[in-house]
Amino acid sequence: MNKIFWEKVKIKEKINFSKEIIGFWLITENIGKNSKMGQFIHIKINENSNLLLRRPFSIADVKDSEIFFIFRIVGKGTFLLSKLNKNDEIDILGPLGKAIEIPEEKDILIFGGGLGIAPLYLLSKTLIENKKNLFVILGAKNYEELILKEKFENLNLNKLIFCTEDGSYGIKGKVTDGIPQLIEKREFKIAYVSGPLEMLRKIKLMLEKRIKIYGFLEERMGCGVGLCACCAVPKIDGTYIHLCEEGPCLLLEEILL
Ligand SMILES: Cc1cc2nc3c(=O)[nH]c(=O)nc-3n(C[C@H](O)[C@H](O)[C@H](O)COP(=O)(O)OP(=O)(O)OC[C@H]3O[C@@H](n4cnc5c(N)ncnc54)[C@H](O)[C@@H]3O)c2cc1C
Repeated sequence: MNKIFWEKVKIKEKINFSKEIIGFWLITENIGKNSKMGQFIHIKINENSNLLLRRPFSIADVKDSEIFFIFRIVGKGTFLLSKLNKNDEIDILGPLGKAIEIPEEKDILIFGGGLGIAPLYLLSKTLIENKKNLFVILGAKNYEELILKEKFENLNLNKLIFCTEDGSYGIKGKVTDGIPQLIEKREFKIAYVSGPLEMLRKIKLMLEKRIKIYGFLEERMGCGVGLCACCAVPKIDGTYIHLCEEGPCLLLEEILL
């Protein structure tokens, strides 16, 4: 089991991607140094709010002891979080979840949609450091929501395709519309997918017979450390796994999506 740290950390930088999408760089003591691709942090929103449960967010990037995460405002917790600014403090637990192991395969497909792009940056950066060939497709509703575009462009990727649903950048359409152009006639054995559940389902249907697909799943979480079973995910063999402990990135052929 990986070591979990509980820290009160300072916001080093606040990045407004759009009115609803915000990123924070945090200065941590131990969490950054121990974070690996595929893991997440669990944030206590505000001592004065009545929100008891922490909120989980993927680790999008790590630089030494600093970590970066990005969130969309969807409810009370993320709204309160969006009001924080540089030098404010956040109470976090992490790193949580199972780190993704470096796969054996050399050529790797990566599909990201919307806020699902966030964990794929740390994943891609780490895989590139491990000399993998990455073929990446990222999509969002529009250009404004295409997060981390420049950061991905600065990675040494073999192929990078963008899609927007309104056609404001790249291919007009959804991530799945760009798949033929990404794959062409190449043979792939492995893919990582992160985005809305519908996207995961569609990609699973399209590629599962040929390719081993790992998907980043999201569930409402309670404790985040495998004690409460809030985030139990059903498997096709009739058993359940705790997303917070075994995930959030899981082999999709084993999961009931
Ligand atoms: C492992 C993991 C990693 C995540 N990473 C990110 C990330 O990098 N960026 C990001 O923006 N969000 C991420 N999420 C989702 C994020 O945790 C929720 O959006 C957040 O907890 C909502 O808190 P809230 O108080 O604002 O909303 P609430 O008031 O709790 O809920 C508002 C709405 O959001 C929905 N919602 C809340 N939590 C989730 C969830 N876990 N999954 C699906 N829908 C949810 C609710 O059903 C409701 O419709 C992640 C979730 C998990 C489990």
